[in-house]
Amino acid sequence: MKHILVCIKAVPAAASVQVDGQYRLKRDGVNLQWNIADESALEAAFRLKDKDGTVTVLTMGPPKLEAPLKDLLARGADRGVLVTDRLLAGADTRATAATLKAAAEKLGPVDLILCGRRAIDGETGQVPGELAAALGIPCVSNVERIQREGDSLLLSRRLEDGIQLLQTRTPALVSVCEYSYPLRLAGILGMRRARTMQVTLWSGADLGMAPEECGLKGSLTKVIAMESKFPGLRKGPKETRAEQGIAVVREMLREVRP
Ligand code: FAD
Repeated sequence: MKHILVCIKAVPAAASVQVDGQYRLKRDGVNLQWNIADESALEAAFRLKDKDGTVTVLTMGPPKLEAPLKDLLARGADRGVLVTDRLLAGADTRATAATLKAAAEKLGPVDLILCGRRAIDGETGQVPGELAAALGIPCVSNVERIQREGDSLLLSRRLEDGIQLLQTRTPALVSVCEYSYPLRLAGILGMRRARTMQVTLWSGADLGMAPEECGLKGSLTKVIAMESKFPGLRKGPKETRAEQGIAVVREMLREVRP
């Protein structure tokens, strides 16, 4: 494959998840990490690209992602693109997919777009399908294995109780399951190469997007309330006697499933 685009999202590290007064995830001042399924998508891209091919990593997020993108260049990506702009804040899946589409088009023709099957924060799993629909290309979700066969791809897709084998023509978009392709580490040569490379920074305007198409303004949905489904589990007492502990757990389970 000559050009593979990998959409990779930075999500809050589990210990530092916070939401603001409008139920939007705070990304400033919290530790971010790459979404684990997206790391698998990147490793799959490395294995699928031709020797003279290019893997581009694309993320929409805050400016501080420039350094983490450099780490992906050290691991083997050929180009890193960060779409960052205050106007993009509060994007729902529609506004996110619209922005990624504009960036993908600006990058030029691609043979394959790889995404994670879902992000561990928003967890909708909608962005890959919306992006594929916007670009008018086939989309296969929840994929564990990707093989090239001539101009097409053979894909093993995870089902609840089995595996489905599909074939698709390219260009296509494939969303990849977490842990299916563990991401390689950066080697010393990769680190040296990355030091000489620049991350491309684009704003909404660079993508030709009007402010009303971006972020909160370009969104059709908005989170209006959130509650933990397991409030008791976090607040439970620490018990050292087994019978007492079992009684507490029983009580907690009754709260969740009366
Ligand atoms: P998913 O669709 O789960 O992501 C799948 C893949 O798409 C990722 O693995 C990655 O490969 C790619 N991708 C996603 N975002 C990016 C990015 N910024 N940069 C690069 N690649 C990316 N929005 C809605 O429209 N409907 C909702 O019901 C909704 N509920 C939400 C609930 C909560 C608690 C929160 C915090 C947000 C919610 N949102 C919702 C907003 C949603 O999280 C954002 O639109 C987000 O940018 C993309 O959705 P997602 O995280 O669900 O991504």
